[in-house]
Amino acid sequence: MPGIWVMRIGHRPQRDKRVTTHVALTARAMGASGIFVDTPDPVLEENVRSVAERFGGSFRVKTGVGWKDALKDFDGVSVQLTMYGQKLDEGLPKIPQDRDIMIIVGAEKVPFEVYERADLNISVGNQPHSEIAALAVLLDRFTAGKNLYSERDGNMSVVPNERGKTVVERPS
Ligand code: SAM
Repeated sequence: MPGIWVMRIGHRPQRDKRVTTHVALTARAMGASGIFVDTPDPVLEENVRSVAERFGGSFRVKTGVGWKDALKDFDGVSVQLTMYGQKLDEGLPKIPQDRDIMIIVGAEKVPFEVYERADLNISVGNQPHSEIAALAVLLDRFTAGKNLYSERDGNMSVVPNERGKTVVERPS
């Protein structure tokens, strides 16, 4: 099955730790294979791995990987999420379902080179908002929501419940 990768650009460990963690967790929850983050951040790696280990799956996280390096050997289609990009409804059909994709999201100002280098620049509306929201909308549309409740075989799993919380814990 083709992989969905996320490349997070412009991560500032102190300022962005929560947002980048949520970018990673959203990517994982919605079926991505892994995330690359440009700035080295061992704490972020540890936090995301801890969730992935407890809740299962094979999500990968690697920090200290610049976007040029991530794209250098990437044999797939790169998609930058940007408020300046083409409309989601127009860009979505151009993303192949049978190839790996790399979704690039920024933090602060994204170098213009990224706009030139990305195969597709796609917006989720043309208003400024959030990389977490943009990623979630794109992934939900691209996968038609099929990963939202997929089994991850983790030590911890949540049983959907109309009310209350049901968590099943398996001994590791
Ligand atoms: N002002 C920055 C710029 O001009 O590049 C963007 C900062 S924004 C807080 C951080 C990231 O959220 C962007 O790089 C982009 O990936 C994503 N983003 C924000 N609004 C978006 C939108 N309407 N559509 C798609 N992505 C969006």
